[in-house]
Amino acid sequence: MDWHFRSRSHHCDDCEAAFEDKQPYHTILFRGMESLERRDICPGCWEQKHETEPGAIGGYISHWQGVYEVPPPPPPEAIQKDNAETLLKKMIEQNDPAHMEACFILAVMLERKRVIKNKDQIRNEDGGRTLIYEHTQSGDVFTIVDPALKLADLGDVQARVAELLEHGLNPPAANDDTGEPEQVAATVDES
Ligand SMILES: [Zn+2]
Repeated sequence: MDWHFRSRSHHCDDCEAAFEDKQPYHTILFRGMESLERRDICPGCWEQKHETEPGAIGGYISHWQGVYEVPPPPPPEAIQKDNAETLLKKMIEQNDPAHMEACFILAVMLERKRVIKNKDQIRNEDGGRTLIYEHTQSGDVFTIVDPALKLADLGDVQARVAELLEHGLNPPAANDDTGEPEQVAATVDES
């Protein structure tokens, strides 16, 4: 199963009425043909269709209620080096199993900072678990596979995450010819 990032809708996915600032809505997650699917539903459609006949949408695996907020304008410093949040989003979009452990550590970090909330967890076919997180502000939803890290491996993974935060996910190659100006003003501390 292919797990990806699912942004919050700006309208009801049933009746397509636009959400207003601070209005409540319902989020349901269900298994689609190939991946996790998300629907955001206005209270009217929820009461009419989903609340009374949960089978009608193919049996959702998770449900919660949220409050829609009009997204703030993007921050002006859009071109910056990755922070834990942007790094995690990139890695989720790449969906590379090699990043599974790093994703988990970043999710734990962000949950501690209350940037994201753990909403639910589901059992995988192999007996492991997948954690469902929601971004506190944007309402975006994503899943993280619990890598069942052993304590002995924790240090290595944390060091890798620190390195990713320092250098980014895709550090430019030496013969990088994208024409982008070099942004890094290296300050060498030789104390
Ligand atoms: Zn609706």
